Amino acid sequence: MRIAMIGSGYVGLVSGACLADFGHDVTCIDKDAAKIEALKQNQIPIFEPGLEALVASNVRAGRLSFTTEFEGPVAAADVVFIAVGTPSRRGDGHADLSYVYAAAREIALAVKGFTVVVTKSTVPVGTGDEVERVIREANPDADVAVVSNPEFLREGAAIADFKRPDRIVVGLDGDRGKEAMSEVYRPLYLNQAPILFTSRRSSELIKYAANAFLAMKITFINEMADLCESVGADVQAVSRGIGLDNRIGSKFLHAGPGYGGSCFPKDTIALVKTAQDQGTPLRLIETTVSINDQRKRAMARKVIQASGGEIRGKKVAILGLTFKPNTDDMREAPSLSIIQALQDAGARVSAFDPEGMEPARQLLGGVDYASDAYDAAQDADVLVIVTEWDVFRALDLKRLKAAMKSPLMVDLRNIYRRDDVVREGFRYVSIGRPGDD
Ligand code: NAD
Repeated sequence: MRIAMIGSGYVGLVSGACLADFGHDVTCIDKDAAKIEALKQNQIPIFEPGLEALVASNVRAGRLSFTTEFEGPVAAADVVFIAVGTPSRRGDGHADLSYVYAAAREIALAVKGFTVVVTKSTVPVGTGDEVERVIREANPDADVAVVSNPEFLREGAAIADFKRPDRIVVGLDGDRGKEAMSEVYRPLYLNQAPILFTSRRSSELIKYAANAFLAMKITFINEMADLCESVGADVQAVSRGIGLDNRIGSKFLHAGPGYGGSCFPKDTIALVKTAQDQGTPLRLIETTVSINDQRKRAMARKVIQASGGEIRGKKVAILGLTFKPNTDDMREAPSLSIIQALQDAGARVSAFDPEGMEPARQLLGGVDYASDAYDAAQDADVLVIVTEWDVFRALDLKRLKAAMKSPLMVDLRNIYRRDDVVREGFRYVSIGRPGDD
């Protein structure tokens, strides 16, 4: 199949490279000329494990190319994917669909012959209808089937997720496009990934419902962690005890500083807005959003409390800035709110992250960026683990203690065992576990 992938970000680039690896002929298009120029030099603009090698091998095989031009690749394509961003619209929290509609207009002008246009971006229910309208308005002769095919990959494990998904969801109204979509994903049937064909609106909603449910699950265990702290229970035991129930499942039950990232925060808010507009509000998700918002600054208060209630003039070392490990993505990372709240309270902040330092610099002022965990901890009054990168799981605690002014660790990801840390002479505070100071 000939495929054009519009938008070469986390989703477009990974999807494009994986589809090329399946044997399709893929052109990744982006309007960001610097990004395309870098990709042509085999420089990957994002950090995603395995992506550089996957891109390089498919470029070498002649199945993957990059351009800023729509015309040729879209005209030649059997299937055109839209994988542009759908951030929160400034001011009201609805999904900003301007990039999707701009891409649809460009597709309309370039398309030749019957073409399947697939929305891979996360878009609110009904967007497929509008994409179809935009295309027909720009080019009444365009012969297209507009299909929804939301993406469920996780940053940090994106290639494995794309190649071995739990399911593939394809939403179409009518049968046109079904054959092409089956052909696009044919290599995955061999891996027995279930493909769910449904209506376009159901497909669009499945993506939001999935993200909202996962955000709610995280928020549930976070609140349970707070209760554990009050009653002297251990959230990790509670999590394991409920997660072993197959009806509940153990994933997304790790207490932490609140969810962040490029998807959950914006998608939960966009779903809430859609539901309110329809007069069928989703109270559970509204509450999830509000609990999670408050939790991030509450984590800063936890650090201040652990430091004796006063942080002004003290140095806080932050380990981990990205919203989760194995990505350089800083979008809506809990570290942003936590650091801001600590700075508001007068703390000096040093920080280290294996991949997020460059993007963090654009977003966080007044932070002393360190060369590693020990450098960050130098003369610090308190060390805070915000993101559970593997390199932070086995820190040399003796070296850390020697570097710090006072040995206090606040572990917002529960990656250490209290006894191990306390034995080295630290005071240790974690999330929802008994024995904290
Ligand atoms: P991103 O910001 O990393 O990439 C979007 C890319 O689209 C950018 O490179 C931008 O330059 C390009 N672009 C914007 N308008 C364009 C246009 N008109 N023509 C060509 N290129 C254009 O975003 P992302 O994280 O890849 O997310 C893309 C979509 O996928 C979003 O809707 C998101 O919600 C969804 N999604 C993301 C993830 C994730 O983990 N990042 C997972 C599942 C779904």
